[in-house]
Amino acid sequence: MSTSERGLHEALFWTREGDIVRCGLCPHSCVIADGKRGLCGVRENRKGRLYSLIYGLASSIHPDPIEKKPLFHFLPGTTSISFASIGCNLFCRHCQNYSLSRARFDDFDLTAITPEEVVRYADTTRSKSVSWTYNEPTIWHEFTSAASKAAHKIGLKTCYVTNGYIQEDPLRELRGVIDAMNIDVKGFTDKFYKGTCGGRLQPVLTACEVAVELKMHVELTYLIIPRYNDSQTEIESFCEWAVNKLGPQIPVHFSAFHPDYKLTNVPGTPQSSMDMAFDIARSKGIQFVYLGNISAGDKDDTFCPKCGSRVIEREGFWVHGTNLRENRCGNCGADLYLIV
Ligand code: SF4
Repeated sequence: MSTSERGLHEALFWTREGDIVRCGLCPHSCVIADGKRGLCGVRENRKGRLYSLIYGLASSIHPDPIEKKPLFHFLPGTTSISFASIGCNLFCRHCQNYSLSRARFDDFDLTAITPEEVVRYADTTRSKSVSWTYNEPTIWHEFTSAASKAAHKIGLKTCYVTNGYIQEDPLRELRGVIDAMNIDVKGFTDKFYKGTCGGRLQPVLTACEVAVELKMHVELTYLIIPRYNDSQTEIESFCEWAVNKLGPQIPVHFSAFHPDYKLTNVPGTPQSSMDMAFDIARSKGIQFVYLGNISAGDKDDTFCPKCGSRVIEREGFWVHGTNLRENRCGNCGADLYLIV
């Protein structure tokens, strides 16, 4: 049996127009003829019905520190068993996981797993959560939902590391299924999204706002690419939107770009751009701002927004010390938007 046959499972979120189907999972809304696949490459029309080709097919299974997602305010210092499949619904020219996002079925010996096996992997790695990461979890919706529900039954938490390119209905169906999301906001202009990522900005912003409204734990990542999305104005606009539409408590991770995939001619992000973004975010009122993929000094630590004391000290993905009273500041008791 071929790999895509092993992962065959009827899809959710589609409508039929004769033999043509329209997928309603992500904002591309692909119209797919019989025998063809959507833009993500993992959803196929078979005789007028839409199927996922990757149900329970994993390209990668690995226990990671939750800080690697990055999620800094969600179960800090714990392990998250992390799963990926293949495919993506965006086409970023700078993709750092292109071996998975652009993979074809023949490229990988995908491992077949069940929701129950996901739970067992979590147990044997002493994980507190299950993360769907490395490739885009949205397009793996049927399996990530089923396995997340199984994980919840034994008290595990569940996380998406996502590009936020999902329609509102499927996102709302993740309420009570996915507990935490790190959402990439890849830039703050439609020009960047269209030209560099093959998508649009507004659906991502809407997804972030809906996830917060649904009371999911949300953290944002913004990868700063020199000359592409690093202007002071663009970062100011991003920070103003984050504060005004999501709230000052939502953590923001600025990540440094390293030349990769189709953007190998672009230099890495200089420290000065990272520091500028950090200062803009703090000046706009974002309470928790972090730098990643670069020497961060204490800019990967968590400081209490009320009294200024250091409450979580990190080195890379590792927590070295905390000063907490349960999930609050150990010094003054302030709220830290923290789930422990
Ligand atoms: S999930 Fe895939 S098939 Fe569905 S609309 Fe998005 S890109 Fe198209």
